[in-house]
Amino acid sequence: MSETNDTIFGKIIRKEIPADIVYEDNLALAFRDVNPQAPVHILVIPKQAIAKLSNADSQDHALMGHLLLTAKRVAEQVGLTNGYRVVINTGDDSGQTVDHLHLHILGGRPLTWPPG
Ligand code: C5P
Repeated sequence: MSETNDTIFGKIIRKEIPADIVYEDNLALAFRDVNPQAPVHILVIPKQAIAKLSNADSQDHALMGHLLLTAKRVAEQVGLTNGYRVVINTGDDSGQTVDHLHLHILGGRPLTWPPG
């Protein structure tokens, strides 16, 4: 899969389409999911185009850590004091629909396991 920012999330990064952005730095962006699956549902994405987790390599080591710590930071920022889930859908069997790596932060209610 080629690494391109020509996705809906690339448009959000470039501010070509609106999003409810809750956090931004030079490497990452976090915004509320337009179709929330929990009272709090936020996506954390890298500004760098990586289509999916399975495309990441050792050069992305620091960025991957940054994204995970950004998810933690955002969860604290929005008050998820009672726990939350971080999910990365990767590839067809996972149900990934947008070819730009994203971490889902889900919280604000008890979550069941396993996912469907
Ligand atoms: O992991 P998956 O690829 O299925 O998740 C993509 C997510 O991106 C969906 O939860 C969808 O609601 C969200 N989305 C969004 N804003 C868009 C397009 C998709 O929040 N403009």
